[in-house]
Amino acid sequence: MSDNQVKTLDIKALRAKYDYERDKRIRPDGEAQYMAPVGSHERFITHDPFADGVKDRAPLTDEVEVLILGGGWTGLLASVRLAEQGVDDIRIIDDGADFGGTWYWNRYPGAQCDIESYVYIPLLEETGYIPKEKYSYAPEMHEHAQRIARKYGLYEKAVFQTRVERIDWDETSKRWIVSTNRGDTIKARFFICCIGPFSRLRLPDIPGFDEFEGHSFHTGRWDYAYTGGDHGGNLTKLSDKKVAVIGTGATAVQAIPHVGKWAEHLYVFQRTPSSIDVRGNKPTDPDWIKSLAPGWKQARSDNFDSVVRGEPFEVDLVSDGWTEIFRKVPIVHVIGAVDQADKDAVAERKARLEYADFEKMSEIRARVDQFVSDPDTAEALKPWYAQFCKRPCFNDDYLPTFARPNVTLVDVSGTRGVERITKKGIVANGQEYEVDCIIYATGYEVSGTFRRKYGFGVFGKDGLDLFDYWEQGMRTFHGHSVHNFPNFFIAGWTQVGASWNFCAVAAAITEHVAHIVAATRRIGDDAVIEATQEGEDAWVSTIRSFAGFNDAFLESCTPGYYNNEGKFKETVATFPYDQYAPGLKAFQVILGDWRASGAMDGMAITN
Ligand code: NDP
Repeated sequence: MSDNQVKTLDIKALRAKYDYERDKRIRPDGEAQYMAPVGSHERFITHDPFADGVKDRAPLTDEVEVLILGGGWTGLLASVRLAEQGVDDIRIIDDGADFGGTWYWNRYPGAQCDIESYVYIPLLEETGYIPKEKYSYAPEMHEHAQRIARKYGLYEKAVFQTRVERIDWDETSKRWIVSTNRGDTIKARFFICCIGPFSRLRLPDIPGFDEFEGHSFHTGRWDYAYTGGDHGGNLTKLSDKKVAVIGTGATAVQAIPHVGKWAEHLYVFQRTPSSIDVRGNKPTDPDWIKSLAPGWKQARSDNFDSVVRGEPFEVDLVSDGWTEIFRKVPIVHVIGAVDQADKDAVAERKARLEYADFEKMSEIRARVDQFVSDPDTAEALKPWYAQFCKRPCFNDDYLPTFARPNVTLVDVSGTRGVERITKKGIVANGQEYEVDCIIYATGYEVSGTFRRKYGFGVFGKDGLDLFDYWEQGMRTFHGHSVHNFPNFFIAGWTQVGASWNFCAVAAAITEHVAHIVAATRRIGDDAVIEATQEGEDAWVSTIRSFAGFNDAFLESCTPGYYNNEGKFKETVATFPYDQYAPGLKAFQVILGDWRASGAMDGMAITN
């Protein structure tokens, strides 16, 4: 199919082409094609290239009121919200050597947040900070995490370079016993899990993976000692190196322009091309800063959420690639129509959405030809799937990189990925590419099993293993609490109302959890709270009642973590399938009503 056909929108032909491209990529092993960085692959995570060694310290054997796991945005927000509720006896544990979470670890060249900084970065008004640009780069976000920690005195409460290995509920003392890789045995009355969706990196289980004798690392632990340079580029040590990048997702799209610029030769092994739209970053306008009135941040975040959820709005304040497609066809109306069981309206709106998406993706494909003249390379870079099957990417330097003479795109879609790794390099399409270095841009455990995603053991009442309990799917009350796991909270992304703005979700859930912790403490020093079986069952059935509204779309998609690698029906629902479909705002109303009622329905407190 050519793009001429697309311009006339031959819907039937497009659907067939999308199906063909999807089927080409679906692997029988689904999620199992990836492996966790454990055992012989542990080196991918145990070495922290950003820390000056591991600081020696004695094991901790004390007790804290609240233990927060994770020092990224969610852990910081939880700490701040607890402080606002008068809860100061907290400890934050993180395996990094500083605050930042995602933005501590992801320092690869070009790392940037593709959601507008003014809506994404938390606690801007509270810290009096305005981001320098519309889309912030990683160092600015890491610095902001440090700014928050300093302002709220969190460094004194942090224990870094420490990995929680397991937590056990002790019914006698009514405390969690937290064991770490540093020999700590800490008692905590409350435990809040703030590990974020992208904290456990994953590796592809490619035959011969361990045979490679050159250098290799994952983008989540960029090795500047090997490449030279820093986040801004200048990867001078690559100038005499042949480099392979495996993966072309949102991370690779940001890093590849820098590697392509500095490497003697770059081979990009691509299974599925990303959709690449205009970035158009710009510095923050000083006049706009002067115009901001208190409350602007929440208002802007709410406005972004309204636009992307198809709710009524007067003006699109963010006005970028994210809001564009949702402005054309509000997706939430599809969900609303399902509620009304208005089948005709659903069909009509879905058809409009599909049409708008075909138009948008046709533009995206046409953009490739503007930058890449080699016809085979250009064709391989064109994504044939609906825009939200994968994370849409926005980058002005990525496509031009493939016009460079030292950059080769190797399309591995026909073999569903790289064939094998050898001592000297990579075999793809029957050819061996000898390289000095392999960079794995292969992502995170987003849709993998809960056990792999969490990476530590959680044992509740009577030693109940959380991940055994969730073997047939996650079970929570409002996404944050689990029956038989007292004083344990998850501030995460599953079974909550979703938003494209991760920090807005984190802000909502941490505010709510801080409220529950404070309310429990007011009842008594040994008060314990947990989800009731009925509360949990009711919430799970609410979540499941929406199951199916998006099935046809997910089924049509090329595989990726959004649809559990194309097997979303066969595997236990994880992300993003298992969410409160009406979205963040509707979820916030539920949480707000719950707090206002004070009845604690769905949870039980014992004293
Ligand atoms: P992804 O999971 O999105 O991408 C992994 C890449 O590795 C894919 O291109 C995948 O191909 C490829 N791959 C995996 N196995 C093989 C194999 N055997 N052979 C060849 N290719 C293979 O990870 P990312 O780190 O890119 O992104 C993860 C998420 O992080 C994003 O979706 C986004 O949510 C977040 N992120 C956000 C950013 C932001 O701006 N806010 C920036 C960067 C990341 P295939 O697609 O075919 O599976």
